[in-house]
Amino acid sequence: MIVRVLGSAAGGGVPQWNCACANCTAAREKRRPRRTQSSVAVSADGAQWLLLNCSPDVAAQIEAFAPLHPARPRGTPIAGALITDANVDHLGGLAVLRQHGDRGFVVRSSGVVRKIAAAQPAFAPFTRAPHRWLEAPLDAAFACNGLTVRAIPVPGTTPGYDGRRSEHGAVVAYQLAGRESMDTLLFAPVFAEIDETLARSIASASVAFLDGSFYSDDELVTQDLALKRARSLGHLPVGGNGGTLERLRGTKAHMIFTHLNNSNPMLDPDSPAAARVREAGAEIAFDGLELTL
Ligand SMILES: [Zn+2]
Ligand SMILES: [Zn+2]
Repeated sequence: MIVRVLGSAAGGGVPQWNCACANCTAAREKRRPRRTQSSVAVSADGAQWLLLNCSPDVAAQIEAFAPLHPARPRGTPIAGALITDANVDHLGGLAVLRQHGDRGFVVRSSGVVRKIAAAQPAFAPFTRAPHRWLEAPLDAAFACNGLTVRAIPVPGTTPGYDGRRSEHGAVVAYQLAGRESMDTLLFAPVFAEIDETLARSIASASVAFLDGSFYSDDELVTQDLALKRARSLGHLPVGGNGGTLERLRGTKAHMIFTHLNNSNPMLDPDSPAAARVREAGAEIAFDGLELTL
């Protein structure tokens, strides 16, 4: 399985259009790399690709990665997308991929996410022909473009525009395995807590992409960016008491934090936060990171 990080930032990206925080300024002044909104492309054979989430930056992400370019006058090697939840930065790219031709696009998500999307005028067309928006079974393996996939419900709620309702399947992680190797990839860019199921899924993964949105619960408040805490936005912070690093101490999986919010001090490689991530043996994703499993 070939894995390529198309984007490694949370909603807004780095820099975010209306933000002059230290991280956004560093990226704007080209002192640190820019980051587009979180998405990963995976392929069993290098020919057909599947998107894990479809960010509003998808057009630029396709242009930045030649294997996703069309090989014919009209066409695409992208077979479809697996969507973790209904946040706009995770499915907004569907509204960008409008010139799809007659073949359409196969989108898969939980039933809850499909229902929320179908009620939004921007995304509703993707639940109708020529597209197909299939319900991914929860906790049961299914075949998808040469990969075996499992959607694992994780703690979280529906997005703010849907009232942050607690519903089983509002947020899922995806476990993916190729046919030729026992190695599995876990894609979990959003979770509010690490429950037993998620902890088991992380422990059994070869590589786990994890929610790296925030390092501290209060970083938006202390940096004067917003009056919201990480946990109230449905993200377990990476650091601090009960944070992801503490919870996963000793985990064998290769952990890669992704979906980094521009407030996150981990974006500065010289910060104590980034040092703690490295000490834990974990990595911080960047746009263009590629792995083979
Ligand atoms: Zn997001
Ligand atoms: Zn910023």
